[in-house]
Amino acid sequence: MSQATTIIDLARLSLSHGEGRRLELPVRLEPLELGGQSYAVMPEAVETTLEISRPSGGYAFHLRFPFRIEGPCMRCLEGASKDAEVDAREIFQEHTDDEELRSPYVTDDELDLGRWAHDAAALALPVQLLCRPDCAGLCPVCGESLNDADPAEHEHESEPDPRWDKLRELKLE
Ligand SMILES: [Zn+2]
Ligand SMILES: [Zn+2]
Repeated sequence: MSQATTIIDLARLSLSHGEGRRLELPVRLEPLELGGQSYAVMPEAVETTLEISRPSGGYAFHLRFPFRIEGPCMRCLEGASKDAEVDAREIFQEHTDDEELRSPYVTDDELDLGRWAHDAAALALPVQLLCRPDCAGLCPVCGESLNDADPAEHEHESEPDPRWDKLRELKLE
């Protein structure tokens, strides 16, 4: 696979004021953190669409790309995946102290597309990643998945383990 583009040299685009350019670029993304777990981003290189326009005294950027994350279900740890979409904008004005107008991804006429795409993907993640919306999670007693399980098999109260009673006594002290 060819090297994915991550740094855009804005000067080389030599856009005049009022001009715009639309670029389609593959960007390789590092795994994303979600709920203490690491989730792989698919495909290996996401296909981004980057629109760059040149309003007076700066740049405006619009970044879009679909992606998919894959990793363990947050309840039962089975494999799960979810489609998500990035739709993000940044502005960079050359002569201003207004932080809002100075994109942190632009330095010396270079746009760090890789870093922006990574941060934008992290913001676009779902709050929860589940193998299915009604995932029943793991049995708190035996740790087995409760999906497709007979609830009767997990009524563990019927045969209490004497060791648990010992533990409870210890905790009460
Ligand atoms: Zn699950
Ligand atoms: Zn159980």
